[in-house]
Amino acid sequence: MKTITLRDGKERSLLRRHPWVFQGSVAKGKADPGETVRVESADGRFLAWAAFSPSSQIRVRAWTFDEAERVDEAFFARRIQAALALRGQLGIDSDGVRLIHGEADGLPGLIVDRYGDLLSAQFLSAGTERFKQAIADALVAATGCQALYERSDSGVRQMEGLEPVTGWLRTPASGAPSTEVTIREHGWRLTLDVAEGHKTGYYLDQRDNRKLFADLVRQMGLKTALNCYSYTGGFSVAALAGGAEHVTSVDSSAPALARAGAHITLNGFDASRHTAMDADVNGALRQFIKEGRRFDAIILDPPKFAPSAAHADRASRAYKDINRLAFKLLEPGGLLMTYSCSGGIGAELFHKIVAGAGMDAYVDGYLIKRLEASPDHPTTINYPEGEYLKGLAIVRR
Ligand code: SAH
Repeated sequence: MKTITLRDGKERSLLRRHPWVFQGSVAKGKADPGETVRVESADGRFLAWAAFSPSSQIRVRAWTFDEAERVDEAFFARRIQAALALRGQLGIDSDGVRLIHGEADGLPGLIVDRYGDLLSAQFLSAGTERFKQAIADALVAATGCQALYERSDSGVRQMEGLEPVTGWLRTPASGAPSTEVTIREHGWRLTLDVAEGHKTGYYLDQRDNRKLFADLVRQMGLKTALNCYSYTGGFSVAALAGGAEHVTSVDSSAPALARAGAHITLNGFDASRHTAMDADVNGALRQFIKEGRRFDAIILDPPKFAPSAAHADRASRAYKDINRLAFKLLEPGGLLMTYSCSGGIGAELFHKIVAGAGMDAYVDGYLIKRLEASPDHPTTINYPEGEYLKGLAIVRR
């Protein structure tokens, strides 16, 4: 087993059980991509068994801080079992569930979502790539799902020196099933395609927020809704389920909008209650303002504007801009649910940005709830950096 020795003082993050070691913290030692290494402090103390990644800034990702633990098939089976046990405790009202959420589940770089009987996975680190077959076997054994689709086409693989890979990783004896699947979320039917959809196919992290939106639309008696960055219209279905008369979905992806339209009728709502707009949200918001339109409820769920803290400045301006426009379009007494999924923008900074947007729009509002990802996308106490999705529910005064 190869040993990686850290520079003096650089053991601190592993000692507090944070799983990453950056390139600059390594004093000596090297290994092959994904190879399991022993990580030691400058004075030779054991710190972790970890996956080595020679081309990544994150040079080492810890598998375990227990010197006696072996990183083998049984290790992955145990970690996967523990992750499934947590999901079993959460009372999730859907058969679309994030089973493995990377670092938080002790499996750095591994994302696995379950959609009905189908698993969709991303292997995003050199370590998960190396143990892919053992992980796939353990996933099938633990879930009983025979079909596992790989969506390792995320840009972050590049930083690990890995090529994009997509396709079936495991199929039932009867052959590959359809990549299209229908899930049931809060009693709504939603379809997705694990081969064609974004990420693993769907945005499960907003599940609880979609339910909250439906509940608030009903409680507040809201009638007109605008779903910005709608993707396949999960929040649009929620709006109608909550009793809204009409919802407009705006997205720049035509296939996503086509699916959003299909979701309206699939859930028993008349197609006339939905308008799909294939447009850039920023432009659409400006157009609505020009037309003098107003909405009772607005969702702003943009893609990641700031992939890292280095992009925070430009991203802040972009967030502020769309929030300012949304405030102007919101009826008094209306509801805005606004989000950022940028890891580089913390909850406090996001609040500041939205406050600035309200100032610029001459709009004030009650902050009725702080929002976050559904609990099957957990963070851990030792890995607060994992907190990426944050949002605010605001009622305009
Ligand atoms: N709220 C959705 C997820 C949104 S993901 C849900 O609950 O499922 C972000 C979406 O923004 C993607 O569908 C992407 O196609 C869209 N998008 C990205 N940039 C955009 C832009 N400038 N204008 C409109 N849509 C955009």
